[in-house]
Amino acid sequence: MTELSDLPIRDDLRGLTPYGAPQEHVRIQLNVNENTHPIPEAVATDIVTALAGAVLGVNRYPDREFTELRDSLAAYLGHGLTRDNVWAANGSNEVLQQVLQAFGGPGRSVLGFPPTYSMHSIIASGTGTRWLTAQRDAGYELSPETVVEAIRREQPDIVFLCSPNNPTGTPLSLETIAAAYDATPGILLVDEAYAEFQEGDTALTLLEGRPRLLVSRTMSKAFAFAGARLGYLAADPAVTDALRLVRLPYHLSAFTQAAAVAALAHAPEMLAMVEDIKLQRDRMIAALPELGYTPLPSAANFVLFGGVENPHAVFEELLANDIIIRDVGIPHHLRVTAGSDAETTIFLDALARISAR
Ligand SMILES: *Cc1c(COP(=O)(O)O)cnc(C)c1O
Repeated sequence: MTELSDLPIRDDLRGLTPYGAPQEHVRIQLNVNENTHPIPEAVATDIVTALAGAVLGVNRYPDREFTELRDSLAAYLGHGLTRDNVWAANGSNEVLQQVLQAFGGPGRSVLGFPPTYSMHSIIASGTGTRWLTAQRDAGYELSPETVVEAIRREQPDIVFLCSPNNPTGTPLSLETIAAAYDATPGILLVDEAYAEFQEGDTALTLLEGRPRLLVSRTMSKAFAFAGARLGYLAADPAVTDALRLVRLPYHLSAFTQAAAVAALAHAPEMLAMVEDIKLQRDRMIAALPELGYTPLPSAANFVLFGGVENPHAVFEELLANDIIIRDVGIPHHLRVTAGSDAETTIFLDALARISAR
């Protein structure tokens, strides 16, 4: 049998492992930070109508510039942004890949602050961009001084900041983001996949006058649209011109564009569960210490909790109860997504039973 290592694969990909969040068919799925609430039926009906319209024109290539979608995204984001500031792709992972294709690549580097979103380093290796890392402060925080010092030391071409940070949930101050921008002559990308769950200001407020600042977002989390694959970015129009150099032509299908535009027209309904999800998050943060665990503060829709003697064993025992959460590889920690009220109850009850043993 042919093994991967038998193939003449790129030297820099040898021995690497792919992104691997398990996709198990279990009843309670709290492992990849989706919005666990289904989209409202009225919105679904509108999306189907839009898709039916798109299918009639599917003999033609879609709008390569996804103009209507960029208008919808700009209107959703606000902050005076227009379609010229907006870019989109099949998930924000693809947006990040295009950013590294345009501004990274062989001979260039990107700096991240682990523990952070695992795809950042994987997309770096896929694009041949050197992945540099620096330490966080206590409690996974990032002060302006820490970030500036790391940038001065590592001299990266690109800096990735994740706000709030996945998998820790840690919010990031605008002071740190602004200081990072001033410290680098390169690109600063702020991954705001969980922006809709956070209380403080978004990095979108910093875009004006900062042409090397990129703010990425996704419809996969708060927006309850993970299966549709739509991520986007706001930046100076010159940045979107750079991304046009590396994107594949017609990368957003007519169906993707139609579905996303229809969903964005119902943004308030799509986001209706966000407040309840935050309640469930805070409920878990309040309940976990009673079970002997130490949850971290979270500005996102998930909670990282420590004090887990054997994360693998707890993960497996929850799985035996038809519940999947995430072992993110941080010793003695596990991460759980905030789902519905019922899902949270089932998770907390199961964890209480497991912990009492
Ligand atoms: C989930 C997540 C994404 C989203 O990726 P999509 O490709 O848009 O589904 C991006 N960044 C972070 C930090 C995430 O946690």
